[in-house]
Amino acid sequence: MTEMLYCFTVDDIALDGYSTEAHLEALLGFWSQEALRATLFVVPRCGGQGLGERPGYLQILNQAHRQGHDLAQHGLDHDRFEWGIPPKMILDLPHEGPAREYLATQRPAIEAALSVANLRSRLREGRAILEAALGLPMRGFRAPCLSICDHLFEALAAEGYAYDSSRHLQEAGWDILNGKSPIVPRPITRAIFDGFQRHTFRELPLTAEYTWYLRRPQYEVTLRLAQQDFDACLAAGIPFVPVCHVSPIQEGDPDLGFQFHRELLAHARSRCQRAGVALVPATLAEATTRWSPTA
Ligand SMILES: [Zn+2]
Repeated sequence: MTEMLYCFTVDDIALDGYSTEAHLEALLGFWSQEALRATLFVVPRCGGQGLGERPGYLQILNQAHRQGHDLAQHGLDHDRFEWGIPPKMILDLPHEGPAREYLATQRPAIEAALSVANLRSRLREGRAILEAALGLPMRGFRAPCLSICDHLFEALAAEGYAYDSSRHLQEAGWDILNGKSPIVPRPITRAIFDGFQRHTFRELPLTAEYTWYLRRPQYEVTLRLAQQDFDACLAAGIPFVPVCHVSPIQEGDPDLGFQFHRELLAHARSRCQRAGVALVPATLAEATTRWSPTA
């Protein structure tokens, strides 16, 4: 391996409550400063309003595309159960009370709605909204809330997506958010990554969300985890894919989310230098074509 791909990703673009235009513009500024290439997962429809009806976002997203970032699809309406059932660690989060209650009473109906045919139709609906609004082909997908099921992957393959990033590698990131202690990192290995490559599209799993309303008391333990995850990805020869959310990365303690990523990047650069490997900022679309399973 001669290069290590660093794929910064951001979720929930245009999802009210977790995204504002000002926060998205601040992220663009951060990526310019740090010479990062990012993948932006855009919510096609929020509260019934399609992205095409949001001129402010369209302007910023077109600018992001011109700057070399990748735009990809984040679900359809960002419903918890649109693509599967979120894992327990997500449903355990303090703000997921309504989702827990809904699941407790509606599980059979939720599961019945997750047919390949339904999922293909939702994929097409979301993709059409984004492609019409942005004038760009959507090649990548990430499910909201890590909600996945086998039928989703069948549907993504049938619809010809080039990559998916709905899976995750580091559950301990959510242990921190759920207040667990001690934090025990799960192993990240090439075998786990390779086990995900079962379809016609490339699966590029994210590691974890490290900057969800990040506060000073959690900074050190979270940074240690992220650094360890980077080292594990480097050792496994797989792309490093952290995820953040448009507003939450900026609504913890002031500037802490960006400071976190600056410090993480410094760690990544020094590790790569020591290993004699080039650290290459890349979008997930680039990782799909550039990263080779045999490298
Ligand atoms: Zn989301």
